Amino acid sequence: MKVVSIVVPAFDEAGSLPELHQRLTRMAEREAAYRFEILFVDDGSSDDTIDVLRALRGGDPRVRFVSLSRNFGHQAALSAGLDRATGDAVVFLDADLQHPPEVISELLRRWEQGDQIVNTVRRDSTHVSFVKRATRRGFYRLVNAIANVRVQPNSADFRLLDRQAADGLRRIRERARFVRGLIYWIGFRQSVVLYDEDPRFAGRPKYSLRKSFQLAFDGIFSFSTVPLHFATLTGAVVTLGAFLYAGYSAYMKVVAKTAVQGWTSLIFVVLILGGVELMTLGILGSYIARIYDEVRERPLYLVKDASEVTEASSEET
Ligand code: UDP
Ligand code: MG
Repeated sequence: MKVVSIVVPAFDEAGSLPELHQRLTRMAEREAAYRFEILFVDDGSSDDTIDVLRALRGGDPRVRFVSLSRNFGHQAALSAGLDRATGDAVVFLDADLQHPPEVISELLRRWEQGDQIVNTVRRDSTHVSFVKRATRRGFYRLVNAIANVRVQPNSADFRLLDRQAADGLRRIRERARFVRGLIYWIGFRQSVVLYDEDPRFAGRPKYSLRKSFQLAFDGIFSFSTVPLHFATLTGAVVTLGAFLYAGYSAYMKVVAKTAVQGWTSLIFVVLILGGVELMTLGILGSYIARIYDEVRERPLYLVKDASEVTEASSEET
């Protein structure tokens, strides 16, 4: 019997988990040809997520959980789940019921047909604010234009990976994680399923603006060096301009002998050069910060508790 692991990252999702568990159970009963393992990752929740998980585990042998020592973020929580998933296939699913558990059946059909990674793309969702939709669209456009990956616009971290692809993803331990990009990078036979996104079942969105921007920057800087080339290019253009202007001012001094005016242009040059230099330094800094993050080789997350005692003190690098 094939085993399917469902990995559910949860950060303060106590309100959604019982309903999610029920719908997953109904789905599992319909898909009786598989054995399911529901692996919750408590990403440092401060509500009673962990108590809800204990209770669910008490009533259902399918449930396992792992609890991280603090909030490490969605992408690290996915890794923590992936590292513990034992299934022949692994499904990533959000805890807030925005990813309908019923769609998993469709992912399983595609897997049976030989797809090794089944991605999902949300149909244009009306539950999501206009601003959020517009920023998402802009982000995907930017990433696809400058990064070395193709990311489906509107794709979500809701997907199925077969064992080979899951092991492939596990081997990537980089810290600045943009799983959607890494999925493209690992290759294998992939396909896409469309789904309708539901509204969040309970609680507030856990992706703060800061976390969303962090993810966007990780997506760009981890998969593209175009910003560095951009810095070189603007540097070159500005230098050329500076030489031309230097020639002009030398001419004004030596030949035309009308040197004093020109305050405006002087300020202009100083400001532009200052701006370009600072921007270039910023771009360099973004890469250096990421190099620094990687060379420290800190673990992606730490575990403080898990449904299996033997794992309770394990940590992953
Ligand atoms: N999540 C997490 N850690 C975080 C932020 C989010 O584990 O630091 C989980 C969250 O509980 C949910 C999923 O990641 O299951 C997606 O988060 P959310 O629904 O807030 O994102 P959105 O749907 O708004 O993109
Ligand atoms: Mg959500």
